[in-house]
Amino acid sequence: MNPTTDAGNTAGTPDARKTGPVSPFDFILFGGTGDLSMRKLLPALYFRHCEGQLPQDSRIVAVARAEHSAEEFREIMESEARSHISESDFHQVCWDQFLDMVHYRQVDVTEQADYRQLVDFVIDEPSRVRVFYLSTAPSLFNRICQGVHEAGLVTPGSRVALEKPLGRDLETAQEINDQLAKYFSESQIFRIDHYLGKETVQNLLALRFGNVLFEPLWRSEHISDVQITIAEKLGVEGRGKFYDQTGALRDMVQNHLLQLLVILAMEPPATNHPDAVRDEKIKVLRSLRQMTKTEILDNTVRGQYKAGAYADGAVPGYLDNDDIPDDSHTETYAAIRAEINSWRWSGVPFFLRTGKRLEDKITEIIINFKKVPHSVYETADGFSTPNQLVIRLQPQESIKFRVYVKAWGDDMHLQPVHLDMDFNDVFKKRQMIAYERLLMDIIRGDLTWFMRRDEVEAAWEWIDPIRNAWDQSSQPPKGYTAGSWGPAAASGLISREGLTWYEE
Ligand code: NAP
Repeated sequence: MNPTTDAGNTAGTPDARKTGPVSPFDFILFGGTGDLSMRKLLPALYFRHCEGQLPQDSRIVAVARAEHSAEEFREIMESEARSHISESDFHQVCWDQFLDMVHYRQVDVTEQADYRQLVDFVIDEPSRVRVFYLSTAPSLFNRICQGVHEAGLVTPGSRVALEKPLGRDLETAQEINDQLAKYFSESQIFRIDHYLGKETVQNLLALRFGNVLFEPLWRSEHISDVQITIAEKLGVEGRGKFYDQTGALRDMVQNHLLQLLVILAMEPPATNHPDAVRDEKIKVLRSLRQMTKTEILDNTVRGQYKAGAYADGAVPGYLDNDDIPDDSHTETYAAIRAEINSWRWSGVPFFLRTGKRLEDKITEIIINFKKVPHSVYETADGFSTPNQLVIRLQPQESIKFRVYVKAWGDDMHLQPVHLDMDFNDVFKKRQMIAYERLLMDIIRGDLTWFMRRDEVEAAWEWIDPIRNAWDQSSQPPKGYTAGSWGPAAASGLISREGLTWYEE
């Protein structure tokens, strides 16, 4: 079955340019009053409408249990969704047109009779692309899929989109996937990791496969190590109950960090067809070296933040939150040394780290190249940090390449400088938020930037033994002060190989 054609309005290999309007669609947004809908999904659809990509007769219907008239839901959108659109990006005419496309239906997804309202809503357009976006608690995913199926809402042009967390481990992920498969074909299922919608993540493929410069060097002969960091300044306030059941390994490593690693490490796909790309991604996930329990304890660090301070004031520790048990061992920080069993990556460590309440909010990828084998020139730093590619995803998307040049003067003395490219300076236009691209891809039926079932399950297969080793360990997570770069042991993890974490 062709993953781009059987689910709707695209044909064959996806149109990489994607600049035109999509065909009229019905977008059923379950959890349409929730945080994700108001902060990201509805603003993303508004932006795409302003760019002329949403035909005016498309319909977006927000669904939740609360009773709201159409007028009341408009007011909620005015006060919540609109506050996530900056003044400079706000256009009254566009906004009013967008509001005309948005509707509200009061539906309790656990009550089958309530689906009648959705049937009545879409019944006049059976052949349209129909998106069921599940922006609710994962515990409702199966019920919604069953509900739309039993109500006869699932058509050949339907797609279902769902967010992480896709399970807590391999077993629960398989259960979710089995349930989805009862009602939708794999080509109708859009599993979202919103990092894959980020401009710089997609640019990684452009950088690697659109230039001859990097690809010959992109291997163990020339790369010493790779570091991927997703650092947050926020703590868990308000989400403590959810977070304490989850932890950094499940919340960030299983999805975002592994997806970044995969994009960096994958082989060039034969085409830009979604399955050509995803076939290469799954090979990397399956090549991740499985560690024994002893190796896991030796190659990973988990931490938990203690009270600390930022420039704007003190913050409480993880265990100081009212909704966290005093004896919680949940990690708010994880660092892992991973290896990939392949000719290309043999012997290259991939250091992954993520944490809450760290010094800065940063997502970046560092590729450290090896030293020149023999240099007749002198440098102030003795080539201690050789060529280095710094790819920053947050807060501002940029790429920096560190090279040695001759410093001005009469001696042949080398000095590192940065070839520095800030995408804001280059493109000088509003940067799309990740969801804009992903939502349009769902409507178009392009699966390239969504996780296939086997990817999600292979990621859990690698994560589960780490989770189990940590759970069985008598050692609590290492403490670190809020506002620092994490536990000292994480520096030890990397320094024993003569390396340091890149911290600007
Ligand atoms: P949320 O703010 O708690 O919203 C949940 C939504 O579901 C509300 O609209 C709620 O409205 C509705 N709902 C709950 N029970 C329902 C029922 N029985 N029938 C119909 N509607 C029901 O959740 P969220 O933060 O937006 O998260 C949504 C999903 O995205 C979750 O899976 C989450 O893990 C994932 N996610 C969220 C974020 C984020 O930044 N928020 C980031 C990544 C992933 P009523 O109570 O009125 O029914």
